Formats: sequence, structure tokens, C-alpha cells
Amino acid sequence: MRGVAVLGSTGSIGRSTLAVLSRQREHFRVVALTGGRNTDLLEAQRREWRPEFAGLADANVASRLPSGPAVLIEAATHPSVDIVVNAVVGAAGLDATLAALRAGKRVALANKESLVMAGELVLEAARAGGGELVPVDSEHSAVLQCLAGRGGELERLILTASGGPFRDWTAERMQAASVEEALRHPTWRMGNKISVDSATLANKALEVIEAHFLYGLSYDHIEVVVHAQSIVHAFVEFADGSVLAQLGFPTMELPILYALTHPVRLPDTGVPRFDPVSAGALTFEPLRADVFRTFAAGVAAGRAGGTAPAAFNAANEVAVAAFLDRRIPFGRIPDTVHAVLDAHAVQPASALEAVREADRWARARALEEMS
Ligand code: NAD
Ligand code: MG
Repeated sequence: MRGVAVLGSTGSIGRSTLAVLSRQREHFRVVALTGGRNTDLLEAQRREWRPEFAGLADANVASRLPSGPAVLIEAATHPSVDIVVNAVVGAAGLDATLAALRAGKRVALANKESLVMAGELVLEAARAGGGELVPVDSEHSAVLQCLAGRGGELERLILTASGGPFRDWTAERMQAASVEEALRHPTWRMGNKISVDSATLANKALEVIEAHFLYGLSYDHIEVVVHAQSIVHAFVEFADGSVLAQLGFPTMELPILYALTHPVRLPDTGVPRFDPVSAGALTFEPLRADVFRTFAAGVAAGRAGGTAPAAFNAANEVAVAAFLDRRIPFGRIPDTVHAVLDAHAVQPASALEAVREADRWARARALEEMS
């Protein structure tokens, strides 16, 4: 029986994780739960799961449960926890990822922002503490499943992107896209921030950087192809030219379960079974990097290395929040991110303080840029 902490249990991935765990009660028990500020939902989850620890990460929330960012660390390092599902959104997830890996836990990582901001430090924390990093992101789970322990022969990755709601829109039309249009994702139901990231394709740039750190490939060996149906999650090419892919109807429950059980598989009657005929025709087309400029900025930041990905992530978070608050139009997201990256003096990202400073600086600079 393995103990699980679910950080961000009130969000989209958090709720899917609990749905998976509810079918696997003989293998896992929920030890810790954290939410952001959704007191009612966390209370309901606490009544259902009876964890040893539950808390809210927002310090200003009125609740009798412990609250403040430290609850993430407490949950992530709790002695009865074996696996930490980090389903917090954004930079707020970084410290818990580091703490859990240093404490020797398995981290089932949905919070890709941790790896983007501080990839080197996250890998270092895993080495130092004996922790293990397993991706929840469907594309990276697909890669892990295709590799089946044979990472040494890996030559190239091709991540798929649905293309988001604006896959076939012109650059001009996209400029003024509304919040409602940006949140209307064609194949996945997700939290607001990642939904906007999927509309700008910033999410795919975050995933390219995530793949770079998880699988140790240079950016020249990581490609993205637009695949509107979201059936093929990634392709893996080996040294001999052979290609494997992992397929399935779009559901996060499968990669979540695999992140819990890797390298073994447990039977799960809850995930939709694949059927090639109803999946229909599968199409692949190039990603329009000239139109999706936030994607281009993110990949350039990845290639620049050092603190550039942290600056990209921070600028993107601030711009997305402003767009969701209807303070800037959709078209200002790429403008803001590009302006911040152009002004960023890249530093090595081998110290956490350098990463935090780049994050702080980029947030301030993005706000200035949008004012
Ligand atoms: P969400 O917005 O639905 O949930 C976010 C969770 O984080 C909530 O529980 C919220 O309370 C908590 N939270 C928010 N701000 C916080 C803070 N400052 N401190 C602590 N907790 C905070 O988002 P989501 O769609 O579940 O995505 C979560 C993460 O998983 C993101 O990093 C996202 O990129 C990644 N991811 C999501 C999907 C998906 O299908 N939703 C797929 C792959 C990866
Ligand atoms: Mg993904």
C-alpha cells in the first residue's frame, strides 16, 4: 500500500487523480491533500479520503485547516508519503517538487512549470535525495511508455500538439480572440491557465523544455507536430530509425495512473478503451511557429538555457493572468513574452536564487510591458 500526496487536489488534474485513486484503493492510500483556496471542495475531499494531512496553500483563506505555501512542503515531505502528485499550477509548484525529490519521494509531475523553471536543480534534487521524477503530462508519459527502459537508444522525439482552439485561425483573427474562445479547447478539459497556454501553444514550448530535461535530448532532437485529434500522444525514434508511438483517447487518467504505477501497469476499468475505427482518420501537420509566437519564444528560451526558461515561464504566467482578467487582448501575450525575453540577461540556472531572481524580474518586467 503506497501513500500518496495530491498537491492541487481541487484542480482538474487533482480531481482526475482522485478519480483514478478511487478505483485503486487496494494499492494506494491518500495521505495528504492540498488545495489553493477552494475550502469547500477541499473539506469535501478531506471527509471522503480522511488523509493524515490537509491544507490550503493560500495564506489569506478563512479556514480551520492549516494554510499558506508551507502546506505544500509539509504534504510533499510527509513521512507516510511515497508518491507526490504535483498538480499545482505555475511557479508555485517548484518548491514542493524540489522538497519531495530531496526527501526521496517519487514525484508524479503534472506541474511542468517546475521543470521548465529549474530543470537542472530539479534533476539535481532527485540525484541528491534519491527521488524519482515521473511525468504526468500525456506526451511525456507516452515517451516513457515507448522507451520501456531503453533510453540509451533514443534518437528523436516528436511531441504532438492538438493545435488548440486557434489551430486554423489567421494571426489577425487571433489578436482579438476572447477569453471564452481561448478556453474552448477542442480535445481536453483543463484548468484556465493551461487552457490559455494551449491556445497560444506556450504549453507545447513548456513541454519541449520539459522533454529536454526529462529525456536529456538536445533541442535539435525534439520536434512538435500538430495532430488535431489528440490520439497519438508522442512518437519516439530510435537510433535504427524505428519509430514507436503511444495512442489512446484523450484522458489524463491513463497517464496519471501510469505515473503512479510505472514501470508496472495495473488494470483499470475506468479509462475509455481505444477503438481505431471510432478514432477515425489521424492527421499531422506542421506547427505554424510564425503565427504562434509564444511557442517560438518558449523554444528560443529553452535553447538559450540558463534562466531564460524561468523568465519565459514567469512572463507567460503574468501575461496569461492579465488576459484572463481581460486587462490585455490575446495578441499581447506573445508581445509581452517576447519583450521580456529580449530584455533578459541570461544567467546560469545552477543556483535556486538565480532562478527566483529571474522569475521576480520577469514578472515585474512583464507588468511594466503591459501597463
Ligand atoms: P487547475 O487550475 O485546474 O488546478 C490547479 C490547482 O493548483 C488547484 O488545486 C489550485 O487550488 C492549486 N493552486 C493554484 N494556485 C496555487 C498556489 N499559488 N499555490 C498552491 N496551489 C495552487 O490546473 P490543472 O489543469 O489541474 O493543471 C495543473 C498542472 O498540471 C499545471 O501545471 C498544468 O500545466 C499541468 N497539466 C494539466 C493537464 C490537464 O489536462 N489539466 C495536462 C497536463 C499537465
Ligand atoms: Mg501535455
